[in-house]
Amino acid sequence: MKNFSANSYQRTRNLFNPNATAPYRLSRSRLENFLNCPRCFYLDRRLGIEFPPTPAFTLNSAVDHLLKKEFDGYRRLRSPHPLMSSAGINAIPFDHPMLETWREVFKGVQYHHQATNLLIFGAVDDIWIDSQKQLLVVDYKATSTDQAISMDQEYRQAYKRQMEIYQWLLRKQNLNVSNTGYFVYCNADKTRLNFNAKLDFTIQVMPYEGIDTWVESAIVAAHECLIRESLPEYTDNCSYCSYRRISQQLENPSIALKKSEQDRFSLPSSAIKKRAKKILNPLRQGPTGFTSPISLKDTHPTEIQDELFK
Ligand code: SF4
Repeated sequence: MKNFSANSYQRTRNLFNPNATAPYRLSRSRLENFLNCPRCFYLDRRLGIEFPPTPAFTLNSAVDHLLKKEFDGYRRLRSPHPLMSSAGINAIPFDHPMLETWREVFKGVQYHHQATNLLIFGAVDDIWIDSQKQLLVVDYKATSTDQAISMDQEYRQAYKRQMEIYQWLLRKQNLNVSNTGYFVYCNADKTRLNFNAKLDFTIQVMPYEGIDTWVESAIVAAHECLIRESLPEYTDNCSYCSYRRISQQLENPSIALKKSEQDRFSLPSSAIKKRAKKILNPLRQGPTGFTSPISLKDTHPTEIQDELFK
């Protein structure tokens, strides 16, 4: 396998080592990364090259935090939250000595998958228990949209998988877990006349029937990916990679673009180059002809793409 030289960008901690005997910790979000693109997953977990971080969604976290506090009050009272009652859910917030650990991001609900020696973990938002003593996995979500919230939208498929992994993890603790889980969706109202330092939310409790049968095979496939000695293929139609590859090609024309990458942009690469140069050359030139360190990768991909395809 090609040796990648270490540099300041490469992480050296928490890398998967195929020869290690200790279980390797793999969070449910990393497993989701694998499902999205084995190549990025491998770059991150084996080679320490992480996808560039995005800013934390702190407003969403604030909603999560406040909802947790609110549901905890009803947990202590052993009674349903009014949202549960109005949704006709015959359950109360579940109390368990491990609940706080299960909610901690770096601990969560854990399971050692013996066959792969992977320690799978994920932090739940909440768990309720129904009148049949079945556990209901609950996930809090915050958004702001004028559209009706539907779990069928493409990007929400990951939320469904998230719930299914939690159901699987809790079943591995020998708990009786229902296939039914709930998304508590908080939707901030943008139609108010004034902000007045306040957001109003409408809250929907949306049931979801989870099917966790795919989780086991996903773990095995992720492990097969981790133990390989070469980079997996790119995922087609990933705009980040197309951006990165096209940028590389502009900087080094000997790098060939895949046909799918050219198709994605529906332009011959010569046209891409011409337009990109027009945009990038002024960016690279300082006022006195000094070549600034700005390279394509320093510029937001969508800005470049918007400009490219005007
Ligand atoms: S296609 Fe490229 S950028 Fe996109 S997720 Fe995969 S490796 Fe990462």
